[in-house]
Amino acid sequence: MEQYRRILKDHGLQITRQRLLVLKTLKELNCHVTVEQVCGALKERNIVLTVATVYNILNLFEKSGIIMRLSAAGEPVIFDVNTHEHAHVCDLSSREVVDYNDKELFQMIKEYIHAHPPKNFEIERIDINLIAVPKTKGETA
Ligand SMILES: [Zn+2]
Repeated sequence: MEQYRRILKDHGLQITRQRLLVLKTLKELNCHVTVEQVCGALKERNIVLTVATVYNILNLFEKSGIIMRLSAAGEPVIFDVNTHEHAHVCDLSSREVVDYNDKELFQMIKEYIHAHPPKNFEIERIDINLIAVPKTKGETA
C-alpha cells in the first residue's frame, strides 16, 4: 500500500482508506474503466463502496491528474488509468476503447498548434479520439 500512499501524497490528496482501495484496484485493472466496472472489481475484492462514493473518488483522481477521463467516449464516462500521452480508438459498435500509441501524431499536432496557437487559450492537453467501427470482412459467398 505504500506506493499508493505515495501517489496520493504526490498528487496533493489526503490519504483515506477508501481512496487507497480504489487506487489499488485501478492500478490492478490498468485499463479503461467505467465507474460500474470499478465497483464490480472492488466487490470481487470484497470491498463494498457505493457507486456515488467511487464516482466522487474517480473525479477527484481525475482532477488531480492520477487518471484521465476519455471525453469523446460519451456515456457512461470512461476513465483511463494510463495518463501518458496516447490516443484512443473508440469502437462505436462495442463501446470498447483501445489505446493508439503514436508519438509522431502528437508531435505533429504540437508543432502545428505551436505555430498556430488558439487565441486567448493555453492548451492543457491534447485529447485524440478516433471514433471507429470494426472493418467488415469481405463476404465470401
Ligand atoms: Zn488509454
